[in-house]
Amino acid sequence: MNNFTFHNPTRIHFGKGQIATIASEIPADARVLITYGGGSIKKNGTLDQVLKALENHTVQMFGGIEPNPTYENLMQAVELARREKIDFLLAVGGGSVIDGTKFIAAAIHFEGDPWTILSEGAELGKVVPAGNVLTLPATGSESNSGSVVTRRETRDKLAFLNPLVYPRFAVLDPETTYSLPAGQSANGVVDAFVHIMEQYLTVRDSAYVQDRYAEGLLSTLISEGPKVLKQPEDYQVRSTIMWAANQALNGLIGQGVPHDWATHMIGHEITALHGVDHARTLAIVLPSLMEEMREQKAEKLLQYAARVWDIQQGSEGERISLAISKTRNFFESMGIKTRLSDYGMTQQDIPILVDQLERHGMTALGEKKNITLEVSGKILRNAL
Ligand code: NAP
Ligand code: FE
Repeated sequence: MNNFTFHNPTRIHFGKGQIATIASEIPADARVLITYGGGSIKKNGTLDQVLKALENHTVQMFGGIEPNPTYENLMQAVELARREKIDFLLAVGGGSVIDGTKFIAAAIHFEGDPWTILSEGAELGKVVPAGNVLTLPATGSESNSGSVVTRRETRDKLAFLNPLVYPRFAVLDPETTYSLPAGQSANGVVDAFVHIMEQYLTVRDSAYVQDRYAEGLLSTLISEGPKVLKQPEDYQVRSTIMWAANQALNGLIGQGVPHDWATHMIGHEITALHGVDHARTLAIVLPSLMEEMREQKAEKLLQYAARVWDIQQGSEGERISLAISKTRNFFESMGIKTRLSDYGMTQQDIPILVDQLERHGMTALGEKKNITLEVSGKILRNAL
């Protein structure tokens, strides 16, 4: 196990009725900006609960943060926040609203061009504190320090990580997720699944705790994921998924172990160029990456096959192949297609995706930094 220092400062309020806690989480004299997306929080009653909790606070609203939030739109919120001297942000929504709000928080007092926060990982000065009410379990953004923002003009989808943007608190009320369309629930399960795989499917070493924790989360998503599609208002199922997605990327399982993240980096380019939902890009890339890297990842793939899928019979090669096909079938069983061609992409799109990877410096990905542009090209071709 490698050395690490772990500190996750986000306070989590989990369960029914917990939205009320934001009244005491946000300072009484704060000038609050509530940020949200396309309006799902108005339809499912979440916004009413938020406004009731904040009835004695000074509140303004910024809506319209889109899935895969754009820099252009977020900068409008930054201007509003500067004008109105906002000193607390409350994101209400999914990963896009929470990620977007982290960028807003970082940009309000940033001196210089805020795009460099993403393009250069520029150092941050004063960051406006933020909390959130999560309505879509998927990204883990509610209690991590990451954010992904797209620049519409140049089709750049870039991430930044900074401990200063950890949310102060996150409210996870599973009832707010009952209204999710099946496709978004499925996206959430797949995104969380792949977050775990990015931190687990690397090398086999002595990280027994992280491995068993990751395997427990993977098994949970495999057994409970399909239920969420059939029983969207089952509180126990929704709570399990919400907590699993949070644990997948709150930092804990990734301590002291190597990470991969190539699936995400390649997936970001597919979203930026073709507008495919984040999780769907991961379902396309991961099975193909597992196939391409099967020798490098053989030991861990065999462990994954045995412990997550209970595959005990056959040669090593057969067990690995079966684990890969079971992974693909799991995504498909959630209603998520796993081929580039399912989304209308062809051979001709691949060099353009590879060029984008190059432009973004994604030339040595994976836990061993050996997923070169050539290997990424192969992974994409195998994903057709
Ligand atoms: P999302 O883009 O936040 O939301 C997708 C859709 O779900 C939106 O149309 C939204 O509608 C709807 N929705 C959300 N909650 C709902 C509810 N309770 N009922 C009905 N509809 C609801 O999806 P996401 O998967 O959470 O976030 C994806 C983004 O996060 C991507 O940009 C991805 O790159 C990024 N990401 C970040 C991290 C990280 O660590 N920070 C990790 C992985 C991915 P409304 O807009 O109307 O609310
Ligand atoms: Fe993700």
